[in-house]
Amino acid sequence: MNLFEVYPLFDINPVKAKGSFLWDDKGQQYLDFYGGHAVISIGHNHPYYQAKLKDQLEKISFYSNSVQNDLQVELANKLGSLSGYEDYNLFLCNSGAEANENALKLASFHNGKKKVVYFSDSFHGRTSAAVAVTDNPKIVAPVNASDNFIKCDWNDVETLETIFKTDEISAVIVEGIQGVGGINLPDEHFIQSIRSLCDSNDAVMILDEVQSGYGRAGYFFAHQEFDVKPDLITTAKGMGNGFPIAGVLISPKFKASSGLLGTTFGGNHLACAAGIAVLDVIKNENLIENAEKIGAYIEDKIKKFKHIKSIRRRGLMMGIELDQPCAEVRSSLLKKHFVFTGNANDKNVLRILPALNITEKEADIFIAALEDILQNLN
Ligand code: PMP
Repeated sequence: MNLFEVYPLFDINPVKAKGSFLWDDKGQQYLDFYGGHAVISIGHNHPYYQAKLKDQLEKISFYSNSVQNDLQVELANKLGSLSGYEDYNLFLCNSGAEANENALKLASFHNGKKKVVYFSDSFHGRTSAAVAVTDNPKIVAPVNASDNFIKCDWNDVETLETIFKTDEISAVIVEGIQGVGGINLPDEHFIQSIRSLCDSNDAVMILDEVQSGYGRAGYFFAHQEFDVKPDLITTAKGMGNGFPIAGVLISPKFKASSGLLGTTFGGNHLACAAGIAVLDVIKNENLIENAEKIGAYIEDKIKKFKHIKSIRRRGLMMGIELDQPCAEVRSSLLKKHFVFTGNANDKNVLRILPALNITEKEADIFIAALEDILQNLN
């Protein structure tokens, strides 16, 4: 059987990983400045994470959702205390798209309305409702996408106000920082306006922190840069450091009811062990502070490089905007210097999302490689 081709692939087969490095089947070493797309939060194969998972594997890895699972409670408590959302409830699932799908469902059940506002250049996943609120030229919307989904320009408060005047809105879904779109930062006024428009119109504010959360942006969740509390927060990627686990943080004003949400694998013992290990490491090794420190270090070193037009950054979520498309730069970083980076909707933006425990010394490898390539670019 052949694989169903869904992604254009680099011809590299990683077989081993440690910290910020990967090795392929030929023994070549790579620096991971993409974190497997913001998934690797505490570095590959962190010893504490490995030990926790191995230990859990020896005990029990899965049983059905119809039994009590103390690890879910431990995870929820630790996530609550590290994020500051102690009073919220947690629903555990398996992917970012699934978390967003459930958040959209919760919103419409909560207020009985259907219409959802989303933003230009958004990315919320590839399942039916998630893709309907995604604005990406490469991602195909389902045939049954309805007119319940209303697109508004990013940071455009005026249009958002008009939409609320003319339509009955169930929810607004917004990324803490747009990732796939090209590291687009929200204005404070924009985020505050979403909050107040939702409040005055009985609509639900959904913050998608799938990429920008878990300490990556120098706060536990990127939106905590501002004084707002969303009703629902979705999280995935960095939550399991590679083990599939995702969640929806749910404001206490939402009523739980049996049958409303569910999933076979969500919150299984192994996934929770991975999730707990990640939170322990983020806390014990001060990784939120490290993300901001190393992010600022990199920005400072590269900001004067040739061909860099702007740098959009919070913590270790960084978009380097070049004065031309960055495909060639990205491919040279990989082929000449063996450094993984990411691209974005915006073709001129190089996206970097390294592990949160990256060191200055490791960052220097990327900095030197980028300098070499940009200096030799026309
Ligand atoms: N939301 C955001 C902000 C994302 O960046 C992504 C993945 N790129 C998703 C949702 C979807 O996550 P998943 O691939 O785990 O479904």
